[in-house]
Amino acid sequence: MPTYNRALSDYIVQNFAVEDDILSQIHSALTQHGLPTYSINAEEGRFLQFLVRASGTKSALEFGTLGGYSAIWIARGLPNDGRLITIEKDRDHATLAQEQIKLAGLDHKVEIREGDARVLMPSLNDEGPFDFVFIDADNSNYPIYLDWILDHLRPGGIIAAHNAFVHGMILDKDHHSPYLEGTRRFNLAIAADSRLIATIFPAGDGMVVAVLNT
Ligand code: SAH
Ligand code: MG
Repeated sequence: MPTYNRALSDYIVQNFAVEDDILSQIHSALTQHGLPTYSINAEEGRFLQFLVRASGTKSALEFGTLGGYSAIWIARGLPNDGRLITIEKDRDHATLAQEQIKLAGLDHKVEIREGDARVLMPSLNDEGPFDFVFIDADNSNYPIYLDWILDHLRPGGIIAAHNAFVHGMILDKDHHSPYLEGTRRFNLAIAADSRLIATIFPAGDGMVVAVLNT
């Protein structure tokens, strides 16, 4: 039986998810600025771009911008008149992301909203419904984001959420933290919700994906 492994992941990245100069230099820009390097990987980025394009998404929302890496993959899946709002609480991250998004020529499509996602969510009530929402900020709050998203996602819309595996710790019964518990509750809630068809795309750190019934 073929087993998915690093070499097969590299095969996908080298053939299907090749980073251009804009994407590849974001990693070094983050390091140079002393910022965390928690960006999704190229395989996951390509998958998000695929989902955005396949679902015909015009209106996308992201929780957690960091350096704009995932935002650029998502925005590249949008049509010309598509739009992504991305939420980031850290000013330094938002500033770097703004530069990267401009470099990528995507500033007409992507708008960064600076602030805590939990605080900003209500201000987005009138900007939905969204076609696609990507969650990648503060896993302890994932269940709270999910409740709000389900009220602001169009039927047929897609939710994607990063770090479903928490680097393998999701299965480790001896590990407890708000981050882990938030992820565990989120994964089980989204799996059991009869309004959704959900699964985990097992690349990278695991990407939960769900589509809302029409
Ligand atoms: N999606 C990005 C990586 C995001 S890392 C990419 O793949 O390129 C998580 C980001 O979420 C960090 O930049 C962090 O500052 C931000 N963040 C953490 N908690 C947040 C919150 N409560 N509200 C908004 N942003 C938050
Ligand atoms: Mg992540």
